[in-house]
Amino acid sequence: MVTVLYAGEAADWPDYAPALRTALPGVRLVLPGEVPPDTVDYIVYAPSGPVQDFTPYTRAKAVLSLWAGVERVVGNPTLTQPLCRMVDEGLERGMVEWVTGHALAAHLRIGFWAGAQDGIWRNDQPAPLASERGVTVLGLGALGAACARTLSGLGFRVTGWSRSHRDVPGVTCLSGAEGLRAALATAEIVALILPNTPETADLLNAETLGWLPRGAVVLNPGRGTLIDDAALLAALDAGQVGHAVLDVFRTEPLPPDHPYWAHPRVTVTPHIAAATRPGSAARVIAENVRRGEAGEPFVHLVDRARGY
Ligand code: NAP
Repeated sequence: MVTVLYAGEAADWPDYAPALRTALPGVRLVLPGEVPPDTVDYIVYAPSGPVQDFTPYTRAKAVLSLWAGVERVVGNPTLTQPLCRMVDEGLERGMVEWVTGHALAAHLRIGFWAGAQDGIWRNDQPAPLASERGVTVLGLGALGAACARTLSGLGFRVTGWSRSHRDVPGVTCLSGAEGLRAALATAEIVALILPNTPETADLLNAETLGWLPRGAVVLNPGRGTLIDDAALLAALDAGQVGHAVLDVFRTEPLPPDHPYWAHPRVTVTPHIAAATRPGSAARVIAENVRRGEAGEPFVHLVDRARGY
């Protein structure tokens, strides 16, 4: 019998247990300590879970992450098994809704600029149409491409940027270091949906923030490491960046005394843009277990050298 170890967060087990049991009928589902590690065939993993040393899991055919971002495990020297990350419908819909909602809020200035309720009837500026607004999505993977497609469907002029060239219908797709400047030049709103890797560290810095149109809005649901925080704060203070909506940070939870909390042009959300949903995630786990047992290639396999 196939044995699957749940090594996600203990607090999430009551939600995952029924979802995994439904998706994996006939599989022995166990918790850490219930069976010897060398009898486990697959490890359902979260960086915040109890298993960080994979050495004893000599029979495991794959480590199946419940998280989309794998920066906390990709360099783990004890990990010799294939690593698959989470790509699921719940994550995708969550990210699309967070990015689209904040992009529309920025576009229509909903809640972004205080002080408008002052009794002065300013009707000289009609609300612009989405077709007049340039939005750039940095990262055109599972989540970025879905966001870019939705924003394009709303009528925005969408530019996307990725490492290798991608084709997304309705989106101007740029790639590589040379494409970044052009991608940022039209970005009245820019969404960062990139992984945390050595190459993406401080992607938005004093120089690249200067490539944005003045007053651009920065949305970061990717990872905190993508932004040089001091440079962003300086750009906000100087008006080069009009507003930043930040969901992810170098240190999480964001410390109470961090300047982002009090900055009038920053909206903080507490890493809630997109969460893995047990029902849809369990189906992705089950598909990889099926593939492993059938000798088929895993889906959503992480390229360890690339880091995502
Ligand atoms: P993905 O499918 O692996 O896509 C990553 C995208 O980033 C790809 O388009 C990739 O380019 C691009 N990329 C990577 N390195 C690059 C570089 N150096 N230069 C330019 N482009 C680069 O990942 P995903 O599922 O869309 O998720 C993206 C990230 O979202 C995750 O890694 C995680 O950090 C974050 N996330 C956040 C939350 C939240 O709640 N805030 C939830 C889930 C995920 P290629 O297409 O050429 O490979």
